[in-house]
Amino acid sequence: MSTLPFDVPTELFIAGQWCPSASGRRIDVTNPSTETVMASVANATVDEALEAVDAAAAAAPAWAATPPRQRGEILRRAYELMVRDAEPLAQLISLENGKALADARGEVAYAAEFFRWFAEEAVRINGDISVSPSGTSRIIVQYQPVGVAFLVTPWNFPAAMATRKIGPALAAGCTCILKPATETPLTALAVARLLAEAGVPDGVVNVITTSTAGKIADAVLDDPRVHKLSFTGSTEVGRILLRKAADSVVNCSMELGGNAPFIVFDDADLGAAVEGAMVAKMRNGGEACTAANRFYVQRGIAEAFTQELARRMGALTVDDGCKEETQCGPLVNAAAVQKVASLVDDAVAKGARVLTGGKRLDRDGYFYMPTVLADVHAEADLLGEEIFGTVAPIVVFDEEGEAIAQANATEYGLVAYVFTRDLARGLRVSESLETGMVALNRGLVSDPAAPFGGVKQSGLGREGAHHGLLEFMEAKYISTNW
Ligand code: NAP
Repeated sequence: MSTLPFDVPTELFIAGQWCPSASGRRIDVTNPSTETVMASVANATVDEALEAVDAAAAAAPAWAATPPRQRGEILRRAYELMVRDAEPLAQLISLENGKALADARGEVAYAAEFFRWFAEEAVRINGDISVSPSGTSRIIVQYQPVGVAFLVTPWNFPAAMATRKIGPALAAGCTCILKPATETPLTALAVARLLAEAGVPDGVVNVITTSTAGKIADAVLDDPRVHKLSFTGSTEVGRILLRKAADSVVNCSMELGGNAPFIVFDDADLGAAVEGAMVAKMRNGGEACTAANRFYVQRGIAEAFTQELARRMGALTVDDGCKEETQCGPLVNAAAVQKVASLVDDAVAKGARVLTGGKRLDRDGYFYMPTVLADVHAEADLLGEEIFGTVAPIVVFDEEGEAIAQANATEYGLVAYVFTRDLARGLRVSESLETGMVALNRGLVSDPAAPFGGVKQSGLGREGAHHGLLEFMEAKYISTNW
């Protein structure tokens, strides 16, 4: 096993204690850059998951009654501790996820901001009072914590997807059980230890690592003390969890998959569009729900954009994520490489031209070269599926309406990117796109102060902003008179 950047707990975190699993079973954590096992973590049983629910339920009344200012100050300390430990945390993320250190550092900064933002939001839980239209009563609306929350997170942003849920849950006065992805459990455990150091009381945050996510989710969602599910992951697993949550009518927030269109109009600033494309495509090595998945480029600028994007993609330094000079690390596992390779092969078989990349890297680790495909046929599978890798497929269009129709021809609706110097067109197109978010002349939307989320099958609810806090609260309406 390789050396971890700092002392990372590897047991379950229940009621403030680090507990080995009674099963004695462990989950190996693999470094995707080298395919070597770097650590192992406890593998929780269903009973242990229910112990975590016990702990969260026992801690819930006192945490909900803790003054908002105090909850906020604990979150603020968590932010400061994350900033203190930013470098070892970034190295840990890079080791277990494979992403380039620069991306991992960006993730830690982003993740810490959710603690800072929700530290500030904890004291802004405002209600409402009005006279009813008939004048016969007063309508008082007060916000209360929804209760024990089950948080399920993916491997692609192991720190930020956890803090984007824990931050608002704690600010709202909820206690929680976090189940991180099997590929990247160490970062979640490291974040839990920081929260304990920040003064989060025992039982308020519990972490369960397991290789049997489905069974654990069944048991936790069946428990009547659990009132909230906040999930980030694939649309496929999201559908399974929504069905499970239906049995107990659990309140659900779902951040699911994407298939982001990236539209470049003839009048776009070419340099800005290519720069935006590099960020939207290659942040996190393309393993982001917000990753640009399909490039629609207007005919007049298509050749220049395509050539420049291919040049930039081909010049990236692809290597072990932990090396300082690396710009693109490996994908997360062998299955991810296999999926990307078969999507590219399918597109090429249907007529696409490979301008750069188009193959795996001949070395240990799960590497796929940054790839640009031109002349991609409308029937190519990668236009309809989330690629989740280093591939940019380009399609040429002529009319604005054609670009909008193609962009909207998907069941996903998370984010879209639009590049044009014509602001009226930019806003008109943004309004027509069936997505929860649009980046207009930018390659990045993520911001803890903004409502992040999708429409259609990309999700339900929003994370970040004040909206993210309200996902963990219920409106209580009191009808009265005086
Ligand atoms: P995933 O396979 O859906 O897994 C996400 C989480 O769900 C993991 O913790 C996983 O545990 C767990 N899980 C899997 N099957 C489950 C089941 N039957 N019951 C309960 N939990 C289950 O997604 P992923 O591959 O980790 O992440 C990539 C996906 O996440 C992409 O589709 C991406 O677009 C999406 N994503 C969306 C957002 C957003 O904000 N919209 C952000 C980031 C990522 P195991 O690891 O043990 O399988």
